[in-house]
Amino acid sequence: AKRDGRNDFHFFSKQIQQKAMVRHRLETNMQRALRLEEFHLVYQPQVNLCSGQIVGVEALVRWQSDNLGIIPPCEFIPIAEETGLIRPLGEWILRTACQQAVTWQHTNHPPLRLAINLSVCQLGQPNLVELIVKILRETGLPPQLLELEITESVFMKQKESATLILGQLQQLGIQIAIDDFGTGYSSLSYLKNVPIDRIKIAQEFVRDIPEDPDDVAIVQAIIAMTSRLGLKQIAEGVETIDQLDFLRQHGCHDMQGYYFAKPMRAKQLMDFLSKAAT
Ligand code: C2E
Ligand code: CA
Ligand code: CA
Repeated sequence: AKRDGRNDFHFFSKQIQQKAMVRHRLETNMQRALRLEEFHLVYQPQVNLCSGQIVGVEALVRWQSDNLGIIPPCEFIPIAEETGLIRPLGEWILRTACQQAVTWQHTNHPPLRLAINLSVCQLGQPNLVELIVKILRETGLPPQLLELEITESVFMKQKESATLILGQLQQLGIQIAIDDFGTGYSSLSYLKNVPIDRIKIAQEFVRDIPEDPDDVAIVQAIIAMTSRLGLKQIAEGVETIDQLDFLRQHGCHDMQGYYFAKPMRAKQLMDFLSKAAT
């Protein structure tokens, strides 16, 4: 069929225009949201597969906007990255999560590691290491309890600078985890010279184990290879007992997912921890 190029053009330019409008609206609202404290954090427990103990939590940001309703992070994080708002937002996330994590150390629950997502843009921020040192000092969180999650995409463009910064952070005692391991189109060579403590097995590989033979092969191979490299693994998005059994049998260290707990507010987590401790 013959297509009308002009209409296509109008269609696409309208789409682009709409996208730009949505983007602009999110951007102006996000600036306002930071001032109005419309963001909050939720925390998802991470469980050791041998002991069944909660060993850590991942902080995840939420935006409940007065004007726009609930906006998922997959929508506003990319815009925050493009506009540079990720820096003030990221700083707020770091400070808030560290402050919160200190209060958990005063419960009778064993020490919990706090995992925070760092965006690629934050890793390019000139004063990142100083900022983190300052926040740790202000809040009193021991660096050993902080873990930073980064995606493999940093090793595509800014491998040298990222390696340097991650090395400095690790020197401080902070742990480094690779988020969504195996999904980032980067070569595996970074595993040889980048300071890493843990890899997170992406949800897309976990979803169809133990039924899908390809995913079974991939997850087995990831665990075997990273163990040989001296790294630990945590599986994400674990929703069923069959997934959990498979991961435990294959020696995966930790897991995180709805099967155990959904992300929750700090207050709820406190109740959850005190129940888990008894
Ligand atoms: P992510 O870091 O891979 O986070 C895991 C996502 O999986 C979270 O979605 C979490 O709520 C969800 N999840 C956890 N367990 C399960 C499960 O069993 N089943 C299913 N289907 N999903 C599960 P969320 O909170 O919507 O976050 C989406 C993404 O947004 C995150 O992916 C991360 O890339 C980004 N993000 C979230 N919070 C932050 C943050 O504070 N800073 C930065 N830079 N990015 C963040
Ligand atoms: Ca993450
Ligand atoms: Ca992930």
